[in-house]
Amino acid sequence: MQKCGKCDTSFSWKKIIKSFFWSSDKPFHCDNCEMQHRISIIGRFAFVALTLGPFMGFSVFLAPFDNSFLNLLVGFLIMQIGFMMTPFFVKYEANMRD
Ligand SMILES: [Zn+2]
Repeated sequence: MQKCGKCDTSFSWKKIIKSFFWSSDKPFHCDNCEMQHRISIIGRFAFVALTLGPFMGFSVFLAPFDNSFLNLLVGFLIMQIGFMMTPFFVKYEANMRD
């Protein structure tokens, strides 16, 4: 799991997931040392790869069901699973300028 760039405190899964719901551009702060963190460029790619990637792959390219609604529904469920995994892969950088 991602750690604080300054004090090495691990960020909780919940804290990272929460940060996505506000805005991916909104930085968040370490609970321990208040250091501000931003999602890195690679983190953004990882986020898209884990959410949109599996969804597009399943619903658009694989599309195993005759019913397009079912393809989208299952693709959406896979996207949810990918989303739940993002805190393990998305990287944050400490904002040392502040
Ligand atoms: Zn910290």
